[in-house]
Amino acid sequence: MSKSNPLKKLIRGYEKFRSKYYQQTFWASLMRNLAKEGQKPRVMIIGCCDSRVDPNILFDCKPGQLFTVRNVANLVPPCDPSPHHHSTSSALEFAVQTLHVEHIIVLGHSQCGGIRALMSTPEENLNQTADTGFIYNWMRIAKEAREKALRERKGKSRATQARFCEEEALKISLQNLKTFPWIASKVAAGTLALHAWRFDLVTGKLQQYKESIQQFEDLA
Ligand SMILES: [Zn+2]
Repeated sequence: MSKSNPLKKLIRGYEKFRSKYYQQTFWASLMRNLAKEGQKPRVMIIGCCDSRVDPNILFDCKPGQLFTVRNVANLVPPCDPSPHHHSTSSALEFAVQTLHVEHIIVLGHSQCGGIRALMSTPEENLNQTADTGFIYNWMRIAKEAREKALRERKGKSRATQARFCEEEALKISLQNLKTFPWIASKVAAGTLALHAWRFDLVTGKLQQYKESIQQFEDLA
């Protein structure tokens, strides 16, 4: 393992960023406008925390283009008005109600550690309400995806089951998005569209879930 200081690399990277975005005319005027006018992103991404799947790098975006929330396994919880700390739901509320984004993309990916944790969690840990840590509690959102994978991909390899679970978890997040009344009403009015995309780290493929045929198909 490299002994170099990882923070030094970040600071060098920041210096590069600053000399581009604050000194080159085109980029400096973009940053000035963003600072003055505020952000007006048209797309929200719900991605995974995984360091390998940074939406801004994947989609080659400029500052101001993507409104992003990243969480473990890119999950959307169902609408739950209880007074807990709802990070993803509050990001959704801001994106939809204040920024008026036109698209929400739930971005899944292969080799997801959150999905792997979900698939390998003992059943009792998922069912009990006792303290099993934050990750298991969070991953419970996709419990049905795990059950379906174990049922419909019974006897298959762990990788096959995980892949199936990733896709099913994306479908659950899509359904959960519609449990927020202000999302459902905008979708019904045609001013907001919901998408589930999946990035494959190995092949580099990007796919989208097509609800009409209930399948994933290549996007690019
Ligand atoms: Zn992940």
